[in-house]
Amino acid sequence: MAQIIDGKVISQEIRLKLNEEVAQFVNAGNPQPHLTAVIVGEDPASEIYVRNKMTACKEVGISSETKRLPATTTEEELLQLIGELNRDDSVSGVLVQLPVPEQINERTICNAVAPEKDVDGFNEINMGRLALDMEGFVPATPLAVKTLLEHCNIETFGRNAVVVGRSKNVSLPLAILMHSDGKNATKALDATVTICHRYTPPKELAIHCRQADIIVVAVGKPGLITKDMVKPGACVIDVGINRIKDEKTGNDKLVGDVDFEEVRQVAGHISPVPGGVGPMTVTMLMYNTLKAAKKAAQNASRKSALV
Ligand code: NAD
Repeated sequence: MAQIIDGKVISQEIRLKLNEEVAQFVNAGNPQPHLTAVIVGEDPASEIYVRNKMTACKEVGISSETKRLPATTTEEELLQLIGELNRDDSVSGVLVQLPVPEQINERTICNAVAPEKDVDGFNEINMGRLALDMEGFVPATPLAVKTLLEHCNIETFGRNAVVVGRSKNVSLPLAILMHSDGKNATKALDATVTICHRYTPPKELAIHCRQADIIVVAVGKPGLITKDMVKPGACVIDVGINRIKDEKTGNDKLVGDVDFEEVRQVAGHISPVPGGVGPMTVTMLMYNTLKAAKKAAQNASRKSALV
């Protein structure tokens, strides 16, 4: 039976440490780190995600604010708000909750967030830095997967990993982080990575997965990864979040992309949904926000030393 990777418990430990670090940073005379989230429109899932992020901010001592804009907001109006937040020295990190309404170009928005406040790591500069193994902001979900693997001492060096999904915000940065060189700035995981996606035939997906020591799946399809696709002892990380009807109770429930009950019988480690990658993603956003605040403080002291 697989060992459960309890993202809630691990996350809690890291949040406690972050809380201490934030307190030390503020006690040293620095301004309190501050995260501003922007929601455009009324997507109920976005509301929940942002609420979780704001709660986490409170837990670790980061001040936060949510700016709400109507669904009819133009790209120009959103860009104007992002510009104001970029220029506001009291704001350490800025995130625009995705998705944005269709009249707004997501890439334009991600690129408008100042790279040094881009705690989601979606700006093309931070993505490029990650691809080149350079210091920058790594998106929170890939960072969450890496942290869970490290925390559970899952060996990745030279091991076979499969990343299922190729989205620009989740799976692509994850695949980069999984295969890149651990000796460089991103301290990546040195695995041999195969990327599967919607055009990978199901038979091939199964073949690739069966060879993997680590499977990370981020698709949004319940039950995509089944027991027969998993090598005994492999580590299975489920990023997927799907809302389905519970047949027993008739209520909605959250599940991942992995057939959890079956796969846990063969895997060595498995992360559940909910309670796996989700809470850790929010924790890594807190990590990135503190990092942004620290960098801003360093830059401010460098500037004042020059005048
Ligand atoms: P996306 O829709 O942008 O990408 C889905 C990916 O799945 C695509 O790259 C596609 O090629 C691939 N895919 C589709 N069908 C497939 C199939 N049959 N076999 C293999 N690959 C297939 O989604 P995303 O933003 O990358 O998110 C993926 C999932 O992760 C979603 O369920 C999302 O809710 C969840 N998510 C969770 C967290 C978290 O913190 N836990 C964070 C972000 C996203």
